[in-house]
Amino acid sequence: MAQVFNWQIGREMDYWYTGVRPGRQFGAVFDINKCIACQTCTVACKTTWTGGRGQEYMFWNNVESKPFGFYPIMWDVKLLEMLGPGAWREGVYEGRTIFESAPAKERVLGWKPTDYDYAHPNLGEDEASSPVDGGLMMEGKHAAWMFYLARICNHCTYPACLAACPRGAIYKRKEDGIVLVNQKNCRGYQECVKACPYKKTFYNAVEGVSQKCIACYPAVERGFQPQCFKACIGKIRMQGWAHPPERAEEDNPIDYLVHVRKLALPLLPQLGLEPNVYYIPPVHASDAFLAQMFGPAAKQAVQTYLEARNDKVLAGLLTLLGSTHRTVDYFKIEGDEAVALDAERSEFCRVPISEPVVTRNAYDEIAQVGRHNIT
Ligand code: SF4
Ligand code: SF4
Ligand code: SF4
Repeated sequence: MAQVFNWQIGREMDYWYTGVRPGRQFGAVFDINKCIACQTCTVACKTTWTGGRGQEYMFWNNVESKPFGFYPIMWDVKLLEMLGPGAWREGVYEGRTIFESAPAKERVLGWKPTDYDYAHPNLGEDEASSPVDGGLMMEGKHAAWMFYLARICNHCTYPACLAACPRGAIYKRKEDGIVLVNQKNCRGYQECVKACPYKKTFYNAVEGVSQKCIACYPAVERGFQPQCFKACIGKIRMQGWAHPPERAEEDNPIDYLVHVRKLALPLLPQLGLEPNVYYIPPVHASDAFLAQMFGPAAKQAVQTYLEARNDKVLAGLLTLLGSTHRTVDYFKIEGDEAVALDAERSEFCRVPISEPVVTRNAYDEIAQVGRHNIT
């Protein structure tokens, strides 16, 4: 085992290989508060990449209702129970990661879902944390809550799928950190399926190989965001490039949300993979649940989000989510507009921060009708 530094848990940890950070890392931010569970993202990926034989059950992108939605069933609960409790102290995780908890002769603590675990892709949809009766929702913070969690492969800095593959068939691209399965080398041992804690590798029984989200690399290479990002109805997503804290750039939108404002947080950082999809946590859920799911910074991130409307830079950047199909390398705020920039810092998209309001006459002289709604 090598020793690598994982900034998300604030310490060095065991990993199967010496960590080599790519020159730039595919990264993304999802704003959970805006997701409406329309599943357009799920269908966009499905129709693009997983319409073949043996892929019927594959959802490289899925959206589940938390706390009781899962795909596959109990993917997070099972592993958290196997891992046991672990405390955080001043930003440092003192428990053990899934690499440090690996059983003897295995590389990762994991489990392999059965066919039944994959049988119900949208199990638990819209189920709240507790039964809701009349008046419960009128209390200050929601007594009962749920939220939608959209998930793709995290293209982890320390991928468990890659560490577990005895064939060396999984690799992380140097140019963008995207994690891929070499279909020619894969022999279908399914060690990656067992190892990935997010359950984002899938076995194709017809082809006899494992397959997973490819981050839509043909689009990303040309400067466009992935299919599930472009299709997102709720405009909850932005794809860009993520850096560790010491290399963070203030005008890089992912770095700004993750490192500068600490608003976007990794999913289950305690597992130790340094995932590169970051979530803005929901404002109405239980603090304890959010801390377990997104780490100890979750409560402060919720507060920052609630105050974002008074913060022009943050509010402006958040308006850029879902406003362009192109990868946002950099951003800036000019007056009341947020501007998206490419790698050369050339402008390609401009969005008003305050919603423009046009007031029309209550009586339309041309049509000779009165209007009920004049804005
Ligand atoms: S989320 Fe899973 S499949 Fe994706 S890189 Fe991480 S360990 Fe591998
Ligand atoms: S990034 Fe592309 S391959 Fe991955 S889940 Fe989204 S649409 Fe599918
Ligand atoms: S398309 Fe966007 S809003 Fe709809 S379910 Fe997917 S992430 Fe949520």
